[in-house]
Amino acid sequence: MQTHFSIHQLSDSDTSAVNDILRSCVHCGFCTATCPTYVLLGDELDSPRGRIYLMKQMLESEEPATKEVVTHIDRCLSCLSCMTTCPSAVHYQHLVDHGRRYIEDTYTRPFLDRLVRWSLSMTIPYPSRFRIAIRLAILVRPVRFLFPKYFRHMIDLAPISLAKNSTIDFQGIYQAKGDKNKRVALLSGCAQTVLSPQINESTVRILTRLGIEVVISKNSGCCGSLVHHLGKADLSRQQAKANIDAWWLEIQHNELDAIVVNTSGCGTQIKDYAFMFRDEPEYALKAEKVSNLACDISEFLYSLDIDFTKNEEIHKSNVTYHSACSMQHGQGIKNQPKELLESAGFLVSEPAEGHLCCGSAGTYNILQNEIAEQLRVRKTEKICATDPDYVATGNIGCISQLARGLNVPIVHTIELLDWATGGPKPRELEDKR
Ligand code: SF4
Ligand code: SF4
Repeated sequence: MQTHFSIHQLSDSDTSAVNDILRSCVHCGFCTATCPTYVLLGDELDSPRGRIYLMKQMLESEEPATKEVVTHIDRCLSCLSCMTTCPSAVHYQHLVDHGRRYIEDTYTRPFLDRLVRWSLSMTIPYPSRFRIAIRLAILVRPVRFLFPKYFRHMIDLAPISLAKNSTIDFQGIYQAKGDKNKRVALLSGCAQTVLSPQINESTVRILTRLGIEVVISKNSGCCGSLVHHLGKADLSRQQAKANIDAWWLEIQHNELDAIVVNTSGCGTQIKDYAFMFRDEPEYALKAEKVSNLACDISEFLYSLDIDFTKNEEIHKSNVTYHSACSMQHGQGIKNQPKELLESAGFLVSEPAEGHLCCGSAGTYNILQNEIAEQLRVRKTEKICATDPDYVATGNIGCISQLARGLNVPIVHTIELLDWATGGPKPRELEDKR
């Protein structure tokens, strides 16, 4: 695609990167077939190719974003299915990230939109605030009809009850059982610690059981992806820097074999820190090191020799594996989680249309609830058609989104792998089937 940025515009590193991305698109349209919003809405402007064209015009002109552009970019899930499909390796992720920042800087959203976006960015990344928000949502649920639609969506998405605080204190060092053979940092995360604290518990248990020391660094927290996808670049960088600083201390003093992440949405973001900080001298090297060390828990476990226990119940269990977009498209991790589950003895299936998003996508199911609901229903139908005993996935967002439409439990892959290596049976699976 031809572009028409001025020399002055190209002197900006972000615009220069965007220019390279735009020029790599040959407008073939292959990406449209696998884009969830194009599949649902059939509008070229809700396809990757259409959005690329809209962003090109917006960025070249340097005019403030228009309502039309904002509508179509907001409908993008950032699922990155288009990147998996694209034969020209167009880096849509970096393009849409830049587009969202530009929109945030130049477009004034209606008051309610701004309020909702601000509320989301001020609560979800902070576990104690998020816990209070969930308590409030549970409290006002009987009178949800009194609230504007965005807030109704938030209330609907809140869990029925709040999970108990974890028995593990998510800061400190968890010693390897037996001989220590590796040392890793674990991202404890934000929303996941509130919604499903057992995921980190399983992760720590399985790693330490395999002889790996786990450190959860003080001051590491939200990866920054939630606000990043809302276009709030400064806050996102601030959260990313806190993590980089925290892990850098560990890298300098004790060395790390990996930074393990058990939420694929966060993993995609952390692996992109190197790009985010490429122009910031104080952080460029540190961010690159952090991105290089980051790996999904399934990638990490796949690199180890694991002895799975013999368990009759596991060998009779049909598990449908749902691959999160951030896992398969964002990080290109496709087979490792499935193969680990199979090695553990589970009978693993995958749903049809596995490449399509379930509609969770960070805060998408709040901000674009109608599209997200259509995707959720479509996904749960495909999953149910595989007749699973339970469903496994590697992203808390997908778990929350899909749990509402499934008649079987959905758990994190690591909970099943923990069970298959001597840990407890996941709580959600008790009393089912
Ligand atoms: S598949 Fe790639 S090259 Fe083709 S239109 Fe889509 S983004 Fe452009
Ligand atoms: S990221 Fe997903 S929703 Fe957005 S354009 Fe690409 S395929 Fe479509």
